[in-house]
Amino acid sequence: MNQRCLSIAIDGPAGAGKSTLARRSARRFGFLYVDTGAIYRTVGLAAQRAGLTGKEEAAVAALLPGLEITLRYDEHGAQRMYLNGEDVTGLIRSPEISMMASNVSALPAVRAFLLDMQRSLARTHSVIMDGRDIGTVVLPDADLKVFLTASPEDRAARRLKELQGRGVETTLEEVLEDIRRRDHQDSTRAAAPLRPAADAVLLDTSGNTVQQSVELIGQIIEARLHIRPEETP
Ligand code: C5P
Repeated sequence: MNQRCLSIAIDGPAGAGKSTLARRSARRFGFLYVDTGAIYRTVGLAAQRAGLTGKEEAAVAALLPGLEITLRYDEHGAQRMYLNGEDVTGLIRSPEISMMASNVSALPAVRAFLLDMQRSLARTHSVIMDGRDIGTVVLPDADLKVFLTASPEDRAARRLKELQGRGVETTLEEVLEDIRRRDHQDSTRAAAPLRPAADAVLLDTSGNTVQQSVELIGQIIEARLHIRPEETP
């Protein structure tokens, strides 16, 4: 019945602009935007609340059956995350939870637990899904795969602006260090490491404005999926 659902995978390291570009492109083309990092962050928050670092495989795995993780969309179409009924959307954005998310995401039990949830969204909706392993593991048959990257300095500067916009106090050096640590951990883990799918379009957004990148991705989507945007960028 949902043969016509289209899917676009956007992967890449922290701060490459995935969420902004995926969200804006989803709105332009009428797709559902799924931020999978937020799902890992929610598990990271649960692990933190249980007094864990997120690296204790057996203890984190034991938590999973008790977690009810729900993804909902508000009236503006923004994704909100719920943990056992509590709205944790704001709580999962701190630098500590970024690292907790990276820790729990290296555990195969966590990845297996979240796989079905992500795939079932793509079965029932046309999605633009962003993450680290969407093109390689979650949606290997995605209609389009984009691997976004940018220099660590550009990514840190963007992440800093985003965090400051949310009222998080931090410095460029701290953000750069956090990005380097997470990139290393995310790329070298055994379970679903961050890497471009063989058939991904590689896009380096260094030096681009958001608008330029939105237009560029829009052109790729139009050319590959043979669809037209519903809105101008
Ligand atoms: O994208 P975001 O920075 O919110 O992701 C937080 C962390 O969750 C990442 O550093 C990564 O370790 C993990 N993640 C993942 N697979 C995804 C999305 C996020 O391992 N598909």
